[in-house]
Amino acid sequence: MSASRRFFVETWGCQMNELDSQRLSGLLMQEGLLPTRNPGDADLILLNSCSVREKAEQKVYSRLGEYRQFKRTREALKIGLCGCVAQEAGRRALTRVPDLDLVLGPARVGEIRGILARLEQGERIVATGFPETRRYDFDAVARDGSHKGMVTIIEGCNKSCTFCIVPMTRGPERCRSMTEILTEVEHLVDYGFLEIELLGQTVNHWRDPASSLDFADLLRAVAETPGVERLRFVTSYPRDFTPRMVDQIGHHSNICPYVHLPVQSGADSVLRRMGRGYTIQEYRQLIESLRDARPEMALSTDLIVGFPGETDEEFAATMRLVEDLEFSSIFAFKYSPRPGTAAPRLGPPIDEAIADDRLQRLLARQQRIQSRLNRSLEGSTRQVLVTGWGRKPGTLTGRTTCHRIVHFPAEDEVLPTALGTFTTVRIEQALPHSLLGRAIASPAT
Ligand code: SF4
Repeated sequence: MSASRRFFVETWGCQMNELDSQRLSGLLMQEGLLPTRNPGDADLILLNSCSVREKAEQKVYSRLGEYRQFKRTREALKIGLCGCVAQEAGRRALTRVPDLDLVLGPARVGEIRGILARLEQGERIVATGFPETRRYDFDAVARDGSHKGMVTIIEGCNKSCTFCIVPMTRGPERCRSMTEILTEVEHLVDYGFLEIELLGQTVNHWRDPASSLDFADLLRAVAETPGVERLRFVTSYPRDFTPRMVDQIGHHSNICPYVHLPVQSGADSVLRRMGRGYTIQEYRQLIESLRDARPEMALSTDLIVGFPGETDEEFAATMRLVEDLEFSSIFAFKYSPRPGTAAPRLGPPIDEAIADDRLQRLLARQQRIQSRLNRSLEGSTRQVLVTGWGRKPGTLTGRTTCHRIVHFPAEDEVLPTALGTFTTVRIEQALPHSLLGRAIASPAT
């Protein structure tokens, strides 16, 4: 493709997808293509998709239908489906979407440069599966945003939670080496990122492929890298958390006191049907140890309501857990059956209206808890990493160390260098999902 060609990447789903899109963008720019924000101007459109829930998957196909319309006026336009839906659908996607040119699985992102030339020859390409040898070209990632440098440390998943399609779409676990990860972290610090976020489907199951080092050792090494002001990691698997990891969180103040720890249900019987491999008592103990290590610890979780066979009592156990553990936020969804998973065979489907009602009750309870927790922060001062402009003109938005969103007016002296830097904000008002405040020091302090 010639140097004046443009590409447009749309990203759905998790941070792993976000980072994959940044990799795709960087690799395409190395080939001389320029990014555009307008799909109508693009010569190549890539839709990086998510298949965790059925609805999202259906939307992918309707979005591809919208993009196909651009082919009427731009004959040379190429359209690619990437991400988890691509991996799951493979060649079927080419039949379902007649004008689709490319189906690219998440483990094949690094091949996009070689694929471009074949696309130009008019070939329709399916690149899925999980090749043994893959280059992780972090130096080609087009980092967007000025505040957070994301680093994939482990790809895929070896668990077999009965509701989840990820092991099929992201393949078996594959850990990057400690050396490679630290090199990337140093590169991101040099680049100016104050916050590093380690990514993986089961991030705390990371092991160095060449030694016995585990995630506790990696946490220490990254936290002790000069210039890493904040360190986050997502997503942790409860059963893989060890006391050594909790110790590292306790010992390094730059490891953010915020952990996303999906529990999925408050009932042991449901956890067993989900194949999660831990009990609620173990989960509660883990939360207790994290809060002992860092009293200011904020925790968030994922919850599924309406899992096959979920009884009123099982759902009540989830409500109790949420009430007791006071999560700073939850990501709650109705169960969504996914192809090739065992869950639909493990109990009768839950009536849609019942699942809806449970979800609404759960969200309402969490909203009350969250409002209460956020109100307890009123009057305190927080270090905020400025992440962008607020929706309201003249405001900035940022994150506290415990991952809460803070909006505050952009003071004049803050303006030129604010994005991606720290500022101190006094919290003046709590809303259920964010905090309002006022900057009391310039970001340079
Ligand atoms: S740990 Fe379970 S829920 Fe998470 S990606 Fe793996 S199989 Fe899916």
